[in-house]
Amino acid sequence: MIYNVKEIFLTIQGEGYNSGKKATFCRFSGCNLWNGLENSKKTAKCNFCDTDFVGINGENGGKYTEVSLINKIEKISNCNNNIKKFIVFTGGEPLLQLNEQLIKKLKKKNYKIAVETNGTIKAPKGIDWICVSPKIKNKIVLNYGNEIKLVYPQRGLKLKNFENLNFDHYYLQPLYNDKYDQNLKKTLEIIMKYPKWKLSLQTHKFIGIK
Ligand code: SF4
Repeated sequence: MIYNVKEIFLTIQGEGYNSGKKATFCRFSGCNLWNGLENSKKTAKCNFCDTDFVGINGENGGKYTEVSLINKIEKISNCNNNIKKFIVFTGGEPLLQLNEQLIKKLKKKNYKIAVETNGTIKAPKGIDWICVSPKIKNKIVLNYGNEIKLVYPQRGLKLKNFENLNFDHYYLQPLYNDKYDQNLKKTLEIIMKYPKWKLSLQTHKFIGIK
C-alpha cells in the first residue's frame, strides 16, 4: 500500500485528554466529508474544517510505502526504543488509510497509537487511543472509544444523542472561527448545565505551535 501523507511532525498534543503530551503527528491526506477546496466548503458534509489536509506537500509530506513511512516516523519521533512513543494519526480522515498492519509494526517499535477520526469509518484493530469527533450531519459508525470530542456549537446538535455512546471522556471544544469568544461562552454555559461534558481547548493555537 502507498500512503498519502500531508505532513509528519513532532509536537505537543494540544487538545483533548492527552493535551500537553509529546506526540508525533502523522496527518494523512484526504477526507470523506470534504474535498478540502474552499469553493465547495459551504456544501460539504463537514463545513467548518480548520485544517489543510489536501495534497502531500506539507512538512515531511509525500507518498510512502509502509517501510518508508515507519522509518520516517522513527526519525521524527527521535526517541530511544525503550521509551514508549506516542503517535497520533489524524487528517483529513485517517481511517481512510490507517490499517492493521501499519499499527502492528509500529507497536513492535514501542508506539502507543492514537487516532483522531470523524467516526464515519470503522477502525482497524490495535489502536490504543480512539478520539471520535462527530460532524453531526453524518452518521457515526465508530460509536466507542476513549474520548468523544464535539465541536460546539453545531447547528442541530443534541448532546443527549451522544451521551450514551461508549466513551470514557466527553469533551466539548469551542468552534474556532471569527466568533470564537461567543462560541467559548456558549461552550462554558452548556458545560455548567451538563457537567458530563468537559472543556477541550486547542491550546496549540494559543501557544503558537502546530
Ligand atoms: S471531518 Fe475533520 S478533516 Fe474532514 S472536513 Fe471535517 S473537520 Fe476537516
